[in-house]
Formats: sequence, structure tokens, C-alpha cells
Amino acid sequence: MARPKDKPKMIQRPRGTHDVLPPEQPIWEAVRKTIRELSRFYGFERIETPHFEMTDLFTTGVGEATDIVTKQMYSFKTRGGDQLTLRPEGTAPVARAFIEHGMMNWPQPIKVFYDGSFFRHENPQRGRYREFHQWGLEVLGDDGAVADAEVIHVFTLFLREWGFKDFIVEVNSIGCPACRAPFRAQLTQYYRSKVRGLCKDCKERFKENPLRLLDCTEEKCMQVKKGAPQLLDKLCEACRSHFKLLLEFLEELQIPYALNPHLVRGLDYYTRTVFEAYVDEPIKPSAEPISPEAVVPEEKSADEEAPAPVEAPKLEDKSPRRLAVFGGGRYDNLVELVGGKSTPACGGALGLERFIALVREAGRAPAEEKPNVFLVQLGELARKKSFRIMEELRAAGITMAESLGRDSIRSQLKVGDRVGALYALIIGQKEALDEMVILREMSSGIQETIPRSRLVDTLKRKLKT
Ligand code: ATP
Ligand code: MG
Repeated sequence: MARPKDKPKMIQRPRGTHDVLPPEQPIWEAVRKTIRELSRFYGFERIETPHFEMTDLFTTGVGEATDIVTKQMYSFKTRGGDQLTLRPEGTAPVARAFIEHGMMNWPQPIKVFYDGSFFRHENPQRGRYREFHQWGLEVLGDDGAVADAEVIHVFTLFLREWGFKDFIVEVNSIGCPACRAPFRAQLTQYYRSKVRGLCKDCKERFKENPLRLLDCTEEKCMQVKKGAPQLLDKLCEACRSHFKLLLEFLEELQIPYALNPHLVRGLDYYTRTVFEAYVDEPIKPSAEPISPEAVVPEEKSADEEAPAPVEAPKLEDKSPRRLAVFGGGRYDNLVELVGGKSTPACGGALGLERFIALVREAGRAPAEEKPNVFLVQLGELARKKSFRIMEELRAAGITMAESLGRDSIRSQLKVGDRVGALYALIIGQKEALDEMVILREMSSGIQETIPRSRLVDTLKRKLKT
């Protein structure tokens, strides 16, 4: 007896990735429209760089000792022997493109934006994916605090545009190499006697890059951090006045900000300004009583401390917390670091999955657009004429939907109703022969028969009122 064939195994999407299905497209599209319009208005032009780069770009640019490089990169060797990496962030690729295309010879500054996928091997949790999308803004060739302010401003305008008012931009200055060298020594001095009590990663950071000790979110390390010296007190004159000017811009723009003297952020390329913005997640009715600490955690976003797998959200997932939505800073040394001429620059990136989750939770996701007209056809001749009518409507800017595969008028009208069309356009065998169409107002059921030649004008008139 023939063995029944094994049922083919269902293949699922890789962990930490997600699909954006048709019903979710309206919000993604609406968000991208705001991104495009805001970016362009403020003079940022789109740039697209490859999804993978030479691995060296990130190890050199982002930094050997950063979490991104040591733990989170998807790297692979090609048959030709190239060592490549799926881009974990967008700034180093932009710096690479800037150098490679001689953009230092274009009128300065260069202002670009991007909107695309990035890849990091992280522990998937709520708001944390392995392939995620960022909107980034970069300004190259401008050392003024006004550039930093503009980047922060455009991101906050975006939040406001979508109705978010409860956000806070944490800012700090991590100085330049000149003010950082003595500070590093002080920090090392402070931490020397405390290394034993730190997490494994911090023991490494102590050796490799003591500044990054301030970036840790482990509870025990955060305790130690509280007493650590602050670079903000020890900035050189130039860095101090740069930072002061930035704060003045933020005041003037009425951007809610808070100084966080321990904010360093996870990438090595930053100089002077660093920033990270948080939005309060809406409180859900079923949330447990919340302690003030839970609402405003001391340092980083609480979502790091309370890992909740995407597949099975835990109860604490319901408690409100601050979600890091955008971050960035100044990176005056990056272009030089990856082989170009010294170029001051700054930028930032906003996480689209997190932002869209917030929009949804706040009930601000736009509804799917309803078509003006639904085309109903009966009989082969009418069906054949449908495409030409559709083209006439498209040329006139009238939106429509159809269900050409269906035969019965009733079932087609049902679909028209479901998609929320204002008018049904009905063409039967007789209408097709006579070059006529029936126009039916969906809400009232009132219908009239008009010559096809007058269809577009009639619809335009009706849709205007
Ligand atoms: P976090 O501290 O949350 O890990 P980050 O400092 O690594 O963030 P950036 O590299 O500054 O993040 O990226 C900017 C924004 O991109 C973040 O504020 C966040 O909204 C989003 N983001 C970063 N990593 C992810 C991820 N793995 N999944 C989804 N969004 C992400
Ligand atoms: Mg991260």
C-alpha cells in the first residue's frame, strides 16, 4: 500500500520579522506621506543606500566595541569572499555614500532622509524586531547647533502632526575627543573599585570603552552609574557653547526636553549632542496600579527591562511605560573615520514599528479609503467594456473598485456596499449595446440611466457636492 505523502511543513516567517498586510497599509502609507512631506519641506532629499554593505563600514563606523557590532549584526561571506553585513543602521551608509559620490563638493550642507529596513539580531519583544523600519534624517557639512536643533525639531513636528503631545526629548553632550580624554580617565578611576559588581558586558566595556558603561540598563549597573562623574560638567569651551546654543533653540521651539547627563547612546561615532525621545504609551484600562518609577524610569526605556515576547505578551506588558521612538546625535568624526575628509554632521532616526504601534493604541490609525464608485457588470459584453470605463475614471481622478470575477448583480452590489462606495455604476447587456450606464446612489438606491459619454462629467459634478 502506498504510504500517504507527508504533509508539507508549513514555513513561518523568521523570528523577529513581521508582515505588513493589506489592512495595515493605509497607516504605513499615511505615515510615510507625512515623512515625505515634512522631510522635503525642511530641505531633506531622499537617499537610498543598499540593504547590505561591507562589514568594515560598520565595525569602523559604528565601533568595534558596541552592542550593534559585537552582538547584533547579520554578517555573511559571499562566494567571492566579500565580508558583508545587512545594514543595522543608516548613518554609516550615508557617510559612505557622501564620500563615495564626492558630496563634499556639492553645495553644503547635504541634507538627506531615508526610510527603509534595518536588521539587528536582538531579542524579539514588543517594539523590538530583527528587521525593522526607520525614518532617518542626516545633515552633513554643518557644525552649527542649528542643524542639531532642526533634526530634533522635524522629528518632534512629526510626533505632533500625529497628535502626540506627551513626549520628552532627553539631551546630553558627550563632548569632543579633547574633552572626552580626561573624562574617560575620571570615569575609569570611579569605576575601578566597582567593576566586580557590574554585569558581564560592563566588565568588558570597562576595558574597551568606559564611556559605554553609562549606556547599560542592568539594574545593578544603573545603581553604580548614579554616582558616576558627569561629562557635562567638564566640557571644553567650544562644546559647552555648542550645547548651550542647542538648548536655546529647543527653548525657542518649545520642545519639551530634559537633560540626561548620563545619556551616551549605543554607537561610538557620536560627538557633542546626543538625544533620545520617549513617548508615554497610552494607559490601558486593564493596567495594574503603577508606581511613579514605572511611568518615568530613571534612564532608558523600560521596554528593555521587561522583555515580553511578541508571540505571548505578558501581563506587565499592559503597564504604561515610555517608549523610545527616536534618537540620534552629532557625529563630527564619522566621515573621517570611514575614509573621508573631516566633515561635521548630525542626524537621527525614528522607529516606524514603535511609532505605528503608538498611533494604533491611541486610536489614530486612518481608515481605509473608500472608493467613489463601484463598477457592476452583467454579461460578457459589459465585462469587456469595463476596462475601458475604468481607464476613463482613472484619467478623471475618480476612485473605483470592481469585482469583475463575479456574475450576479446582487453579489456585486454587496461588495460595493462593503467597500463603502458612494455610487454603483451598473452596465448590463442592454446598456453595453446602447452605450449607456446606470448610475445608482448607494445610500438611497435611487438610480438613473445616462449616456456613457456623460458619465465622467456627471460623476464629477455629483462627487463635488
Ligand atoms: P533601543 O535603546 O530601544 O535599543 P537604539 O538606541 O538601539 O534603541 P537607535 O539605533 O537610535 O535605537 O534607533 C532609533 C530608533 O529606532 C529607536 O528609538 C527605536 O524607535 C527604533 N529601533 C531601534 N532598534 C529597533 C528594533 N530592534 N526594532 C524596532 N525598532 C527599533
Ligand atoms: Mg538598541
